[in-house]
Amino acid sequence: MQDPIRPDARGITTEWGAPQREPELKLDLEQLERILPRYEGPGPRYTSYPTAPAWNEEYGEAQFRESLGKIPPDRDVALYAHVPFCDSLCHFCACNRVITQKPELPARYIDEIQREIAWIREAIPGAPHASQLHWGGGTPTHLTTDQIRTLFRALTEAFPLHADAEVSIEVDPRVTSESQMDVLKECGFNRISMGVQDTNPKVQQAIHRIQPFDQTATLVSQARSREFESVNFDLIYGLPYQTEASFERTLDEILTLQPDRIALYSYAHVTWVAKQQRGFERKDLPDPSSKIRIMLLAIRRFLEAGYLHIGMDHFARPEDELSRALADGSLRRNFMGYTTQQGVDVLAFGPSAISELQDAYAQSERDIQRWQEAVSSRGCATLRGHVLTAEDQVRSWLIARIMCHGDVSATEYSARFGGSLKHDFCRELESLDPLQADGLVEIDSDGNLRVTPLGRLLVRNIAMAFDAYLAEQQRSAKPLFSKTV
Ligand code: SF4
Repeated sequence: MQDPIRPDARGITTEWGAPQREPELKLDLEQLERILPRYEGPGPRYTSYPTAPAWNEEYGEAQFRESLGKIPPDRDVALYAHVPFCDSLCHFCACNRVITQKPELPARYIDEIQREIAWIREAIPGAPHASQLHWGGGTPTHLTTDQIRTLFRALTEAFPLHADAEVSIEVDPRVTSESQMDVLKECGFNRISMGVQDTNPKVQQAIHRIQPFDQTATLVSQARSREFESVNFDLIYGLPYQTEASFERTLDEILTLQPDRIALYSYAHVTWVAKQQRGFERKDLPDPSSKIRIMLLAIRRFLEAGYLHIGMDHFARPEDELSRALADGSLRRNFMGYTTQQGVDVLAFGPSAISELQDAYAQSERDIQRWQEAVSSRGCATLRGHVLTAEDQVRSWLIARIMCHGDVSATEYSARFGGSLKHDFCRELESLDPLQADGLVEIDSDGNLRVTPLGRLLVRNIAMAFDAYLAEQQRSAKPLFSKTV
């Protein structure tokens, strides 16, 4: 295995897949500000290709069962459980969540999700083991300790975990107790990630998420004393009242806790799906130029602190396995984010959860009531999905290369698909001419494509050139995607 990329005497390493000298710190900010208005429109995040708006409701239970039946008996799977419950609503949130204090809802959820696990397990031939398990939400630690044990047991009895499996969970410092931490450890969770977002009280008040820094520090210390392998933070830039100076203080604080991975998300103002965001005055949000400066500040601070830029919005310590996967070209992206898992099907449980199979995506009912009723009566709650065509598979590979590695090799393309990248994607490569002129991407005469350090900040815009569904989606009267910046 290739050594992980490390910051060394030559400078800070940031290039996808190969060391590079300080490019992020030398970005031409004036150039960035000049070109930014051309690129800040809406665009997909490409956790899948085709993206969800291209899926259809003709894909239902029968198609999902057929896709599950194709999983080879000897292939590992990855598991995702969506636990949608939260105590209170954060005003920036666009996740699928159910705000409740009532114990009946999680109790019924636990019953139904066991039924869903049994249905999916029964549809799969062989006895696959799981190499990855992740619980997201919502707030998974909204569940009681008994419910956590029950759900964990149901998943791992159906799909036994490999001894070295990555077993992760999202925890909320505001609601997670020490006894829950004990149970998570006892179950076998080895990674936790927690939403921090911003430690500034004024910002926290605006987003309706009061989380004093000490609360976060306490949970980190509880995780470390129980020897969780990895403690990860989520931060958000572009929130109301954020400034460069205020976010610098957030960064000062969170870096003292030395998280193993950091996800730095852009606040997506998507009022058509998250109505509570209408509580913000647009004037309270940083303008696009300030927002990008806040993002650049954070990137600089992470690189100076020794983190590597894994891709889009993720940073990790050099010894982290994501950093090693980045270096040896095995980095992948799925609905759970960046991952080292290759060639595994993702089986997802719970409302709105998305299963990602070799040739298909399948999503369950988003509404908890409808999900419960469907699972209760049929065993599964497939709402929509998509079977990938041969062309989808090729474009999916191209977009994944751009998003995960920042390059596409014409030689590798030919070896995989038998054609010529330059010939097969002539129109798409030509459409990138303006982005090439703006210094975001470099394309040589053979069609080899390389994303520049500046282009990494706008990588979604580059990937969009290879999305065959996007033109039609952009004609939709309803907004479908968040802004790329
Ligand atoms: S941000 Fe997390 S804790 Fe807050 S409402 Fe959304 S899912 Fe719940």
